[in-house]
Amino acid sequence: MIIVLKPGATQQEIDHIMAKLKELGLSIHLSRGKERTIIGAIGDDRVLQNQPISIFPGVENVLPILSPYKLVSREFKNEDTVIDIDGIKIGGKKIQVMAGPCAVEKLDLLIEIAREIKDAGATILRGGAFKPRTSPYSFQGLGEEGLLYLAEAKKKTGLPIVTELMDPRDIDQVLKCADIIQIGARNMQNFRLLKEVGQYDKPVLLKRGLAATIKEFLMSAEYIMSMGNHNVILCERGIRTFESHTRNTLDLSAIPAIKKLSHLPVIVDPSHAVGKWDLVAPMSKAAIAAGADGLIIEVHSNPEEAYSDGEESLRPDQFKSLMTDLRRIALAVDREI
Ligand code: PEP
Ligand code: MN
Repeated sequence: MIIVLKPGATQQEIDHIMAKLKELGLSIHLSRGKERTIIGAIGDDRVLQNQPISIFPGVENVLPILSPYKLVSREFKNEDTVIDIDGIKIGGKKIQVMAGPCAVEKLDLLIEIAREIKDAGATILRGGAFKPRTSPYSFQGLGEEGLLYLAEAKKKTGLPIVTELMDPRDIDQVLKCADIIQIGARNMQNFRLLKEVGQYDKPVLLKRGLAATIKEFLMSAEYIMSMGNHNVILCERGIRTFESHTRNTLDLSAIPAIKKLSHLPVIVDPSHAVGKWDLVAPMSKAAIAAGADGLIIEVHSNPEEAYSDGEESLRPDQFKSLMTDLRRIALAVDREI
């Protein structure tokens, strides 16, 4: 339910309405726009049947939220959500680029890559300590040791960390090291995990599932937000189609589509989308041109020897030249990097 307030609604009137909604057990969100203030109320709408909020002083209109996802929707909150990670804003005018190896391997290597990507203009370091691998015989990640390496790389470079959480049992460790918790594509509908990360205010990078529709993707974000964590970043990372030339098919249209449906920031992972390093740059450019708020790109100093996803990783010099090209694309769409 959206409660649209009259342009001149007083603070006293707003407080009165909010107190009533709270009393009815609804969770509420106040949004002060330039022209209008609205209150979003989520919960069992039936409680409003005997409580005509529309007659409260200061109320102009009461509208139902028609989409199945509520907190995620633009109806609920019209202005873009900007998530602040130690001053790095995701969802604002500046495009943020996260980069780093697929998996955390060795400490020295991680620090070397972190320095290179920072030098090229990346603002957040990625790296998996817990790796969701298709084969149980593949490298599964360094686990806790990997998290310690990430913390060390942050100390050395100042770059905030994004890293994946696969299992709620690891959340305390991950919370200590991560500035953004990544929920991988394979866990997009692991509802228990979504509810777990929803209980903290740590930003969550939610990746689109391998075969998830946009609606399912947004419903998963709703799970996190419904638990109280509104710091959700959505990540398009390619979906499975009949095309087998690329690892997945990057759904570029999802970017403007989601931007229309939701106020949440949308970033793109071109690396896992295409699975081939030479297609990463063109898809990164296309993503920025299509309105993405950021990118997450795999970079490795020695892709041939990488423990995972070397075939889709850029070398630092390739990443650097991509960043230069991206600045020009960003300018063309009135953004900056
Ligand atoms: C990753 O980013 O390390 C990863 C495994 O990506 P995805 O979950 O999108 O496959
Ligand atoms: Mn990878």
